[in-house]
Amino acid sequence: MNPRDLHGILAALEPLLILRYDGVVSFANERARELFGPIEGRELDLPTDSTLAIPGLGRAFVSRHAINWQGAEAELVVLRSLPEQRTRPGPRAAPEPGRRLVPMETALRSLDARVHSSSALLVVDLDRFHVINAVLGYRTGDELLRQVGLRLASTLRATDLVSRRGEDEFLVVLSARAHEAEEHEMDRRRRRDPSLEAGAVAERVLESLVAPFEIDGSEVYVGASIGIALVHPELDPQLTLKCAESALYRAKELGRTRYELYSGDLLREKSERMAIENRLRQALRRGEFFLAYQPVVELGTSRMVGVEALIRWLSPERGLTSPALFIPMAEENGLIIPIGDWVLQETLRQAALWHAQGARLVVACNVSVAQFMHPDFLTRLKQLLALHRLPPGSIEIEVTETAIMRAGADTDRILAGLEELGLKVAIDDFGVGHSSLSRLKSLRSHLLKLDSSFVHGLPDDYKDASIASAVIELAHNLGMESLAEGIETAAQHECLRDLGCHLGQGYHFGKPAEPEEIERRLRSTRRGRKGRADQQDAGT
Ligand code: C2E
Ligand code: MG
Ligand code: MG
Repeated sequence: MNPRDLHGILAALEPLLILRYDGVVSFANERARELFGPIEGRELDLPTDSTLAIPGLGRAFVSRHAINWQGAEAELVVLRSLPEQRTRPGPRAAPEPGRRLVPMETALRSLDARVHSSSALLVVDLDRFHVINAVLGYRTGDELLRQVGLRLASTLRATDLVSRRGEDEFLVVLSARAHEAEEHEMDRRRRRDPSLEAGAVAERVLESLVAPFEIDGSEVYVGASIGIALVHPELDPQLTLKCAESALYRAKELGRTRYELYSGDLLREKSERMAIENRLRQALRRGEFFLAYQPVVELGTSRMVGVEALIRWLSPERGLTSPALFIPMAEENGLIIPIGDWVLQETLRQAALWHAQGARLVVACNVSVAQFMHPDFLTRLKQLLALHRLPPGSIEIEVTETAIMRAGADTDRILAGLEELGLKVAIDDFGVGHSSLSRLKSLRSHLLKLDSSFVHGLPDDYKDASIASAVIELAHNLGMESLAEGIETAAQHECLRDLGCHLGQGYHFGKPAEPEEIERRLRSTRRGRKGRADQQDAGT
């Protein structure tokens, strides 16, 4: 479409902008220019699908739509001013869906099969309720919730329970008690199969929501998605809720306004997890862990300047198990403390061996938050450093961005302690966790490790490239070195080097390997250096 035509058509409507892929405004209609001034050619940062207060417009709902604009991908941004009820009228009125609305705790307690006889849990989630709230106002939203509650209650039996959960969700607990008086033959058959019964209730709930709701003389339509989980004596209420939520996500994925029954096998997953945990408890004693070392290279020269120690678990029963699976388990059940201590001992022992062989490598070691915050952490490191007499700067402690933030007020003390011991500190997986930039500014760390998820798309993905570039610059401005994780191709290597990243790690340079492989690599580097030096000598 010609921009002039579009301008004509939309001039009378709400404020509207077209943003190029890089966030620069390519087109703004009259209304948008009244609000933002001559905005074309400038960047505009607005949130996605949410309400916000805009001077001159009041509360507005921002919606974004992908369009093709002048042959390229772009976004159409519409700001819809919210009518009449644009300010929220005091605290929201609680819905009154009849006598069966119970607190959520009561609903969840009734799922405990040891005490109650319930057959299924339904999580009923209203489709796109936030849009109704934003466009029609909170008062309409609240009234809608009240009426939905009433309709839900009217489709259920007296012994079933309904509860509000969150803004737009209802929990429905179906009672397993027989109601002979109410029961037809069909009901009796369904009762023998709780999944049939729960499905029938879900259908009734969906049907009950089809007719419009009358609010202030207008008709409002709302649909719902429903996730169902059957109550099982082995599942505690929280797990049952998890199962129902997982079914709800599936219902939403499959197009909403439908129900899904949880079909996964959480019980099997739970018992498998317990079996792994039991083996994990014995793994240290049985000597089933070992460390693999992944080369860290200088991106400018491709020279190996360090390694990262990565734990491996080889159990006779399960074979090799990924740390991404067992480390979170060990973090949950506390085993991370003895396992982490073993990793530290082993890393420092190996680092000392390499040092004695003349290798100048920085050996990095991953540390979990519980270990980092443990009262003995610094003392233990001090002991190990004294035992192995490692020079300052030869060991690096890697802590994830999230762990550092979670350690809260203790972080600064621990980081200062690490520095005092001559250890380097790296912030791992940077970019995927939650950290505040102002906090980062005050942290005493030496290295920022850009998470591999921003490296995958390089060099072509402009979003990855801009994040990578921003993180690298941020590290440098804060006086830290930068390292990119997960480099798999020469093109990624080149791109990151050109962006000014110091260090890199990834399959392109070497997979995590046994110490012997690292030593072979060190020897070949030395031979290469010697060869070059000999050639130079011969040439002079
Ligand atoms: P991490 O510290 O971010 O380690 C990098 C992970 O990326 C390693 O996975 C490594 O094998 C993998 N990787 C490296 N280069 C590439 C690549 O080019 N492509 C791909 N696809 N992957 C690459 P790994 O060894 O499975 O470890 C996973 C995570 O487990 C680690 O992430 C770390 O958070 C944790 N972990 C590993 N060892 C330890 C340990 O000794 N202690 C603690 N607390 N956590 C550990
Ligand atoms: Mg790491
Ligand atoms: Mg990492």
